[in-house]
Amino acid sequence: MWPLCVAASSGLVLPAASGSAPASIAASPLRVAAHPLLQAPPAVYSPSKDLAGRGAKYYDGRPPELSQSIAQALKEVGKRKICVITGASSGLGLHAVTALTSSYEGYYVIAAVRDTAKMDEAAAEMGIDAKDYKAVKLECASLASVRDFSKELKRLLRGRGLDRLVCNAAVYLPTDPKPRFTDEGYEMSFGVNHLSHFLLLQLLMPDLKKAKDARVCIVGSVTGNKNTVAGSLVKPVADVGDLEGVKAGAGSVMVDGSRSFDGAKAYKDAKARPREGGGGGGRGKAGKPERPLFTNRPGIVFNSMYPGCIAQTQLFREKRDWRGAAYPHLWRREQAIGSYVSQKEAGERLAQTIADPQAAKSGVYWSWNGDAKSIGVGNAGGAGGDLFENSFSGMVQDEANGQLCWDYSMELVKPY
Ligand code: NDP
Repeated sequence: MWPLCVAASSGLVLPAASGSAPASIAASPLRVAAHPLLQAPPAVYSPSKDLAGRGAKYYDGRPPELSQSIAQALKEVGKRKICVITGASSGLGLHAVTALTSSYEGYYVIAAVRDTAKMDEAAAEMGIDAKDYKAVKLECASLASVRDFSKELKRLLRGRGLDRLVCNAAVYLPTDPKPRFTDEGYEMSFGVNHLSHFLLLQLLMPDLKKAKDARVCIVGSVTGNKNTVAGSLVKPVADVGDLEGVKAGAGSVMVDGSRSFDGAKAYKDAKARPREGGGGGGRGKAGKPERPLFTNRPGIVFNSMYPGCIAQTQLFREKRDWRGAAYPHLWRREQAIGSYVSQKEAGERLAQTIADPQAAKSGVYWSWNGDAKSIGVGNAGGAGGDLFENSFSGMVQDEANGQLCWDYSMELVKPY
C-alpha cells in the first residue's frame, strides 16, 4: 500500500510506510486531526441505472501536438535524458519539473498533461526554460489518449530509450455524491490514478528497457497505507478486498466491488494497490506477458515516494467545506511543526527520486525526515542526509492480490 498523501500506482509494487514512518507522517493525534484528508462521513451513493450515462468524452480524439514540432523537439532534447512526468501542470509535478530542470543537469521533460496551454503558462510563471520541456497532451481519463500519447512519444524517441517515467497525475474526489466515469467507463479515481498509468507503463516498457539506467517512479500517498497513523485511523481506510471491482471492470464503482460509492476511499484504494509488478514487454512460457516483480526488473529501477503532505496543491480542490477555508491557517501552523511540506520542497523530493544516484535503488519507497534540499539537490547528488527507505505494508506485499490486480488490469487495458 502506498503511503496519507502516498503512493500511486501503475502496475508496480508500492512500498508502504511502516512503523518507521517519517517524522512528518508519524503524526500526533493533534496533527492527524488537522490533516486535510480527514474525512467527514462520506457521501454514499447507491448506483442507479444512469451509471454510465455521462455524455461528452474527456478526450477529444485529437492526437498530441508533438508530431507537428518533432524536429524542433528532437533538436532541443539533444543527448539529455528524457523524463516523462504525468500531471506536470500543477502542484508536485510542476515543482518537480522546476527542480529537475534547474538543479540537475541533462534532463529534458515531456510534461504529459491534459491541458498543454495551462502547462506552458505555469512553466513560464515558474521560470522553466521552454528548451527544457515539451507539453504533450495526455488525458488520463481516456485510455485512447494514453495510446495516442504513447505513439507520439515513440516518434520523438525514434528508437532511443526512455530514461524516466513519473506517474504523478491523480484526482481526489472526496465530496462527489456519485461516481464519475472515464471515457471507457471506469470510476474516475481508479481510471486516472491507476489504470491509465498502468497502461502507460505497459506501452512504454520496451522504451524503458532500451535506456541504460531507466527509472520509473510511482508517486505514493499514505492514505493507502494501513500501517501509518493516517492510513489506519483516518476513515475511510483503504481496503481493496479481493479486487472484485477491478475484475468487474467498466461500470464498477469501488475497487473492492462495493456498489456504494465513497470518493475518499476510491482515492485511497487507487493509491493502495497491492503488489502488481512492473510487467510489460516480456512473455512468459505460456506466451502470456510476464509480471516481473517490482524489485526484479533488471535494468530498470522501480520505486515509489511519499512527498509529504502538500496542503497547497490543487489536489484538495474538491473540498468546499470548512476544511477548505481552514487550510491556509492549518498550513501555516502545521508548517511550523513540520507535518506539511511546501510545493517547492515536495518538488525537490520528487526530483531527487528521479535524478539522484542515491535513489537509484529498485523496490524502494522513499520518504524524508528532512528537506531534500538540505541533502544537496545538485548535479553530484548522493550527498546523504534525510532521505530514507521506508518499508512495504502487508497489503502491498500480498502476492496473491498483486497477481490478481495485475491480471485484471492487463485484461482491462489489453496493451498488446
Ligand atoms: P494537483 O491536483 O496539483 O496535481 C495533480 C495533477 O494531475 C494536475 O496537474 C492535474 O492536471 C493532473 N490530472 C488530474 N486529472 C487528470 C487527467 N484526467 N488527465 C491528466 N492529468 C490529470 O495535486 P498534487 O500535486 O498534490 O498531486 C500530485 C500527486 O501527488 C498525486 O499522485 C497525489 O496523489 C500525490 N500526493 C499528494 C499529496 C498532497 O498532500 N497534495 C500527498 C501525497 C501524495 P491539471 O493541472 O490539468 O488539473
